[in-house]
Formats: sequence, structure tokens, C-alpha cells
Amino acid sequence: MPVAIFTHPDCLRHDPGQDHPETPARLQVLLDRLRTEPSAALHNAPPADRASLLAVHRDSYLRSVEALSEAGGGALFLDTILNRSSWAAALGAAGAVVAGVDHVHTGKGHAFAAVRPPGHHALASVGMGFCLVNNAVVGARHAQRLGRERVLIVDWDVHHGNGTQALVEQDETIRYVSLHQSPWYPGTGAADERGVGNVFNVPRGPGKPAELYVGDLWAAIVAATMDWTPALVLISAGFDAMRGDPLGGFTLEPAHYADLTHRLRERLPDAPIVGLLEGGYIPSRVAAGAVAHIQALGE
Ligand SMILES: [Zn+2]
Repeated sequence: MPVAIFTHPDCLRHDPGQDHPETPARLQVLLDRLRTEPSAALHNAPPADRASLLAVHRDSYLRSVEALSEAGGGALFLDTILNRSSWAAALGAAGAVVAGVDHVHTGKGHAFAAVRPPGHHALASVGMGFCLVNNAVVGARHAQRLGRERVLIVDWDVHHGNGTQALVEQDETIRYVSLHQSPWYPGTGAADERGVGNVFNVPRGPGKPAELYVGDLWAAIVAATMDWTPALVLISAGFDAMRGDPLGGFTLEPAHYADLTHRLRERLPDAPIVGLLEGGYIPSRVAAGAVAHIQALGE
């Protein structure tokens, strides 16, 4: 059974401008690759509805992003820059994650949301780090509305998902496991940030063997699921932890994402998985990493 890939055409129209690393090409190259990938079936998702976003974000914040985008764009915050299509892209990205959760909920296998802008730095009322809407937490809240109360979020982007952590750290129904470079942007994610015992941070320095990163992330996933079984797994799948990425110093290769995906499926056989694209700034490498992950979801 091919893995369902959800995207939205507006995700390609969001453009923070020349010389910005979060380019439309990151997604375009991946989508081009997936069109010829036998293990993937591409679908356009409807945009997220307001209620899905309001489960995570303040209304005043959403209105401000929408208004800035409709006015033609500009800097929301430092390097978090909008154009006229950014609000539509944010709705499309969140909608693709919601569609992925709906898909796996009905037992049709695993899914991946090929989206941008990314989401894991977005807080309830602050967009930052190229992120506007926290797609992973939107997906988690949607899964909970479907009756899947316990949700595990695994974040293997090279940056700490400060937004995701802040949005779930008081909620023991969601567990958050993050491997990330430290010290590094955005500066959060110390191992002693434990939330209500539901946060499992794995901060590591750059330039170490990939097996160390994979092994340490896996140990944290095992710790998070020792006496606690999620009903659904979301993966904040950034691919900027790959060797050579301009925004990170880790050393992973596509095979490591396949390995982690296989291990998750084996350990949590009853929990469907929705992967969703976060960072990763060399388009061909993002595509290679994501395809390895997707193939492992489908095998
Ligand atoms: Zn990142």
C-alpha cells in the first residue's frame, strides 16, 4: 500500500524572499521526486479550518498573520517573513497535517505531510524561526478530537522545537521527544526541561557520529514509551540534521531516517504515524531524507 502524501498548492507560493534559506524549492524538489516514487501517493488536502488552528493559537495572533499576509507581507518577526500567499500556505500546511491524521485514523496506513512553512518554533501567539502555525500540535489536537488521546511527537529536526514544547509541556496526554543541536537556535531544549514529565530533550553538540545521535534519540523514545503507549505518532521531520546542512552541524544520512522509522513502527505497532516536513535547507538532501522516511513508512 503506498504511503499517502498530503500537500497543498499554496505551500509552494509562500516565499520569504531571495537569500532566505526556507525556499519554495525545498518542497518543489521533494514533490517532483515523490511524483515518480512508487511507494508514495500524492493528494492535495483542503486548508485547515479555523477551529483546528484555534485549538493551538490565539485568535488575535492568527488575525495578525492573516492581515500582514493580505497586506502583501513583510517581517512578522526577525527572519520570519511573509508574502501575500503566506497565510494561505500556513492554512494549507496545517490542513495537510490534519488530512494525514484523518487518513491514518481510518486504518489506511501511515502518512506524510509535505508542507511549508514549517511549524515547530511557532508559539501560541508568536511566529518565529520561519514558522507561523505549529503544524505538529495542530495535528496532535486533531488526533485527540478523533479520540486518540495519547499522542507522541518525535522531533528530529536539528533545532529544538521550542514552540511545540511550550504548547504541550503542561499536558501529560502528549509526550514530546526532541533531538537537537545545542547550543544552537533557538536556545531552548535543555535535558532538564521536563514539562510535567512529558518532555524528553536530547541536546547534543555538532560533528559527532550519526550513530550516536540516532542511538541517543532512540533511548529517549524508549524512555518516553516505557509505561505509556501513544495512540498516534507525529514526527516533526526536519532534514537539517543531515550532514552538510547550512543551518546545522549534525551528520545524519537518509538511511538513519529509515532506521528510526522502522524502529518506531516495530516498537509501537498499533500507533499510526504521520510524518510532517519541518526544516532542511539543501533541497536535494531534504528529498533524499524524506523519501527514505516515506519508503520506511510504506514497507
Ligand atoms: Zn530546523
